[in-house]
Amino acid sequence: MHFDLTDDQRLTREMVRAFAEKEVKPRAAEIDRTDEFPRDLYRRLGELGLLGMTLPPEHGGAGADTMTWAIVQEELARASAAVADSQLLAKLMTDMIWRNGSEAQRRTHLPTLARGEKICVIAQTEPGAGSDVAGIQTTARPTGDGWVLNGTKRFITAAMVCDLAVVVATTDRAKGGDGIALFLVESGTPGFSRGSKEDIMGVHGLATGEMVFEDCRIPAASLLASPGEGFKRAMVSLDTGRIGMGAECVGLAQAAMEEAIAYARQRSAFGQTLAGFQAIQFMIADMSTQIEAARLLVRRAAWLKDQGRSVAREAAEAKLFASEMAARVTTDALQIHGAYGYSKEFTIERLYRDVRVYQIWEGASQIQRTVIARRLLR
Ligand SMILES: Cc1cc2nc3c(=O)[nH]c(=O)nc-3n(C[C@H](O)[C@H](O)[C@H](O)COP(=O)(O)OP(=O)(O)OC[C@H]3O[C@@H](n4cnc5c(N)ncnc54)[C@H](O)[C@@H]3O)c2cc1C
Repeated sequence: MHFDLTDDQRLTREMVRAFAEKEVKPRAAEIDRTDEFPRDLYRRLGELGLLGMTLPPEHGGAGADTMTWAIVQEELARASAAVADSQLLAKLMTDMIWRNGSEAQRRTHLPTLARGEKICVIAQTEPGAGSDVAGIQTTARPTGDGWVLNGTKRFITAAMVCDLAVVVATTDRAKGGDGIALFLVESGTPGFSRGSKEDIMGVHGLATGEMVFEDCRIPAASLLASPGEGFKRAMVSLDTGRIGMGAECVGLAQAAMEEAIAYARQRSAFGQTLAGFQAIQFMIADMSTQIEAARLLVRRAAWLKDQGRSVAREAAEAKLFASEMAARVTTDALQIHGAYGYSKEFTIERLYRDVRVYQIWEGASQIQRTVIARRLLR
């Protein structure tokens, strides 16, 4: 057992860190302020081969492993949570189409998604159902030659800018999870429209919003996972997503700690810098220890996934610990900044807001605990 990265992983980390420092970090505050989806940066991610990076080369990817992807996620999040999360979305959606799609669906969608020319979203959450995926109300009714979708989705990342959506819908509400199927719906399809953009606390720049399906007719070839399979496929994608979310939290916490160290070194009080006070030193020491613990959990889950092992518990543990860790670290890092931490003038204010959602999306902390406990107690 060793903890070194491979040469490829190290080189990827260096490349992504250099890109993030030069092209992402200087834009992060502006993305937060304007709340505009940075389409140009998204295309740059595609040019760098980062959007479909885990796809096989014949589908426009680099065949990278989950560990390398987790490293990329951490480095991007260190610069901007929104940019990191747009990359996570691309990875999950290309993965979902590659794993579940027909050859025609793969050929049609994967190259343009991997290049960043198109954006695909996952439309699962509804006004009345988030954690309880089996309780969704959006219906898919079979017609002779396809399906008709009806329902509303909320809090969908990139809803306002997407070209394609994987829509989670029920074909039979009485069957719960067994009635759920996945469908590919292209923007411009009659009956599909976007509702309001969500006015949210953090992760600005992700164009999060509502999607509405009103008698939206789609062909039979739009089916991505059939009833009975859809729920399982969505859950597998969540496991992978949780590893990425954990990695993003490590990157965000790392950024918060670096901001706190820089501030503590230059700010003086009572005749010395803040860095000279043991109370501040201990906060920094605790941050570093917690970040390293989360990083190990994330990398363990990524490594297990790369070995083809089941990671439901390990991914949930990584996401749970990393998201709660990142909230503690950003809180302490803001504290070290005093009043300036509460001002939009300093980066820590954005990190503090951005980090909060990681305890909610991709399964709230309570759901992660349920997943973990269920596997230990069954
Ligand atoms: C910025 C943002 C972006 C998002 N992007 C997407 C996206 O792209 N696609 C998508 O489909 N969804 C997306 N979501 C939705 C997100 O996945 C859900 O918010 C999340 O799953 C929680 O669902 P909910 O908000 O309906 O909360 P609820 O399910 O109503 O839960 C509310 C509270 O009750 C707790 N709770 C619920 N059930 C239990 C239980 N059984 N035991 C104990 N506690 C429980 C929860 O943990 C939570 O604390 C996004 C959300 C946000 C905020």
